[in-house]
Amino acid sequence: MRNTRATQSLFTLSKPGRRGALLPACDVPEQPLESLLPPSALADAPPPLAELAEPDVVRHFTNLSTLNMSVDTHFYPLGSCTMKYNSKRNERLVALPGMADLHPYQREETLQGMLRLLFEMQEMLGEIAGLPVVSLQPAAGAHGEMTALFVAAAYFRDLGQRRTKVLAPDSAHGTNPASAAMAGFDTLSVKSNPDGTVDLNDLSAKLDQDTAVFMITNPNTLGMFDGQIREIARRVHEVGALIYLDGANMNAILGITRPGDFGADMMHFNPHKTFSGPHGGGGPGAGPIAVTERLGGYLPAPLVARDAAGVYRLDYDRPKSIGRVRAFFGNVGVLVRAYCYIRTHGPDGLRRVSEEAVLNANYLLSQVKSFLPVPQGDRCMHEFIASATKVKGERGVSAMDIAKRLLDYGFHAPTVYFPPIVREAMMIEPTETESKETLDAFAEALRTIIEEPAELLHAAPHTTVISRPDEVKAARNPAVRWTDGVTKQ
Ligand SMILES: *Cc1c(COP(=O)(O)O)cnc(C)c1O
Repeated sequence: MRNTRATQSLFTLSKPGRRGALLPACDVPEQPLESLLPPSALADAPPPLAELAEPDVVRHFTNLSTLNMSVDTHFYPLGSCTMKYNSKRNERLVALPGMADLHPYQREETLQGMLRLLFEMQEMLGEIAGLPVVSLQPAAGAHGEMTALFVAAAYFRDLGQRRTKVLAPDSAHGTNPASAAMAGFDTLSVKSNPDGTVDLNDLSAKLDQDTAVFMITNPNTLGMFDGQIREIARRVHEVGALIYLDGANMNAILGITRPGDFGADMMHFNPHKTFSGPHGGGGPGAGPIAVTERLGGYLPAPLVARDAAGVYRLDYDRPKSIGRVRAFFGNVGVLVRAYCYIRTHGPDGLRRVSEEAVLNANYLLSQVKSFLPVPQGDRCMHEFIASATKVKGERGVSAMDIAKRLLDYGFHAPTVYFPPIVREAMMIEPTETESKETLDAFAEALRTIIEEPAELLHAAPHTTVISRPDEVKAARNPAVRWTDGVTKQ
């Protein structure tokens, strides 16, 4: 049943004079506001706020929260985003008063526990990356990319080299060229082979003394590990450029291989993906970066250091640092959850996470490929791309239609139309936290959907409050006023 009440705004529910709390009668003489505040601090009229009782507000937000999909309510195979289940234990630990009530302006001697945790986090991420020097400051993966490119720019400036170009494969996430542009580089796209790996000839043709960085995602956005990575690194290093690894796909290789060992000079982690921080409309992420020893000096200051006496402190004495990219110590709440996740699993557990993520993806791939083509082959890492080109050609049913219809079956849609090099792409990433039963049910829903009447699919979803908003218009011209459960755009 549609929940129309939750689609009204608090302002439509407002009744003048309704209150959530009753204050006791004032037992001191009342003072006019004008006698207490200067005229500049007084408004002409009270703010036009909704007037409601507490149950109105609680029901409104509780009902609203049920209209969305989340990993706590639904299977969420959103490729590239690693929407694994977020353990509630990590939420409990990060909410402990010793964590949550710290203030970043406290003196360092009163922050020793947190500083130790952050120090150990730097060490652990350095170990997982195979790149020893780590900054926890960046606030998201994309921010990590940009920060690392600033680091690269500072490094080349220091060497007296003027390098203006950043290369990335045409399968790259949009944040790669965007970060390069924001860091002041020209970006060039390198072609992929039909199997999604880097076209080495095209790479070599574009690599020269002007190239600063080659950004690569490995496993790539097609869910394939590019086995040419050593050769790629050799060619990039030969012209004096650096390799940046987009670490969004670390969930496939934890404890199995390390970016530093296969040639990366810099990388970012997405703790909100790989290490199970809640994300997707659900709060901030983080984007710690790890770099080689020779780039370490350029990282944002401060890093967390431990002195000979075992005291933890913030090390600002980093003369080559690019400076701060984020207030305080970064998004500590996300980092603490990730710390709990890493410590809980331990090295062997992390490896099992990746092995099971890859197993689940391959199990689902083996089911899906019997009715939706998977152009890049029979095996994958932690995710794979199915293509709806066949049903599109035969019956006019697009990847978007299928994705929308999945909502009616109680599944979040996979990522669609990314990476752009696969037509009608549906990028499916089940993660390791899903059971065989869930994967079977999802495959069954997909199989059923692609045989449903095209008209039904074009109008899907049919069970949600809103069916198909104009996404561009919704972003550019958001409707904040609701009437009768119907949005006016
Ligand atoms: C998610 C993702 C990013 C960006 O990370 P954010 O934390 O969302 O900024 C970059 N590259 C790839 C491949 C991703 O999947």
